[in-house]
Amino acid sequence: MTTFMGDPGPRGRFGDFGGRFVPESLVPACDELEIAFREAWLDPGFHQEFEGILHSYGGRPTPVTEASRLSEQLGVRVLLKREDLAHTGSHKINNVIGQALLARRMGKMRLVAETGAGQHGVATATAAALFGMDCVVYMGEVDVARQELNVFRMRLLGAEVRPVHSGSRTLKDAVNEALRDWVATVEHSHYCIGSVMGPHPYPWMVREFQRIVGDEAREQCREVLNGSDPDYVVACVGGGSNAAGTFAGFVDTQAQLIGVEAAGGAAITSGVPGVVHGMLSYILQDEFGQITEAQSISAGLDYPGIGPEHAYLAASGRAQYGTANDEEVLKAFQLLSRTEGIIPALEPSHALAYLVREVGVSIPLGSTVLVTLSGRGDKDIPTVIGLLK
Ligand SMILES: *Cc1c(COP(=O)(O)O)cnc(C)c1O
Repeated sequence: MTTFMGDPGPRGRFGDFGGRFVPESLVPACDELEIAFREAWLDPGFHQEFEGILHSYGGRPTPVTEASRLSEQLGVRVLLKREDLAHTGSHKINNVIGQALLARRMGKMRLVAETGAGQHGVATATAAALFGMDCVVYMGEVDVARQELNVFRMRLLGAEVRPVHSGSRTLKDAVNEALRDWVATVEHSHYCIGSVMGPHPYPWMVREFQRIVGDEAREQCREVLNGSDPDYVVACVGGGSNAAGTFAGFVDTQAQLIGVEAAGGAAITSGVPGVVHGMLSYILQDEFGQITEAQSISAGLDYPGIGPEHAYLAASGRAQYGTANDEEVLKAFQLLSRTEGIIPALEPSHALAYLVREVGVSIPLGSTVLVTLSGRGDKDIPTVIGLLK
């Protein structure tokens, strides 16, 4: 029997996917990080500190909420894993606290990050402030202009935001600049990647820092469901970290795992295998092999690639992947707000939209479904205001 979501080994492969496709100059940095993570993750003291901070500072454990009115409307029993209640309003805090602790353990007191919509930049700046670290966030010039509020938040938290003027002046150019910085400053800097992406060991390490979501949810579901597991576990997928963290808690159960991508950025559904950001995975490309820009109402889901472990889970059949379009997402966003008094982020509204569409189709009436609510919707109000009347 295949075991899923374990240690990918020194080559960092998930089936055919993953690996470490980086210039020679970055190999020692990736090796050093892998060794440090392996050591730390075997050290009970590291776990104690990580979980302790997520408890006293991050607000964990986050609850599982029975969504009774939504369940009644849909005809399935819906449980929500409430990452919207974590500090900074999403699951991103789990990963950045983990990486900041690891950086400090490695003697590196400077964090480098890239950000597109700004959410990961804000999370990294938060962790840097908490630990008294320097923080530099690279952000495409176009994104800097689009995400004024997050740029202000990062600066308020003490981070330096460096606009990137090269290429399309968006996320993928910011990634290149962050990598360049890391190569030049690796002795005292750690590159903090925001999802289950990039060269080995990042996809594995970030999944492990996020598995607290799934591990908690599994216990909480068993309490609510008298010892059984949900029939379906659904999470949205940008890079794939909240989904990977959730799936890790349920991968050895009978639950069907479903990842939901934005229809305009669906790397698994419409992508092809290729190398991007140091890894082999599915990516959105044009006929000339150029990476195409993903389009979505939700900035957090518009990355043109997906974490390599999701590519493997899809290829092996252990998880299924679907999509939701902007219109469905806006409806689901309103539905949860009105039935449960919870305004979800647009990203997890994709998971809800998929559920709404598939109940009675691929998801039988009467099923029990856990949905990871990866974040709260306050950040999306300016986007939504113009679209709803
Ligand atoms: C960033 C973000 C995502 C997308 O990232 P993943 O790595 O796929 O989890 C999803 N939801 C929220 C609320 C986010 O902030």
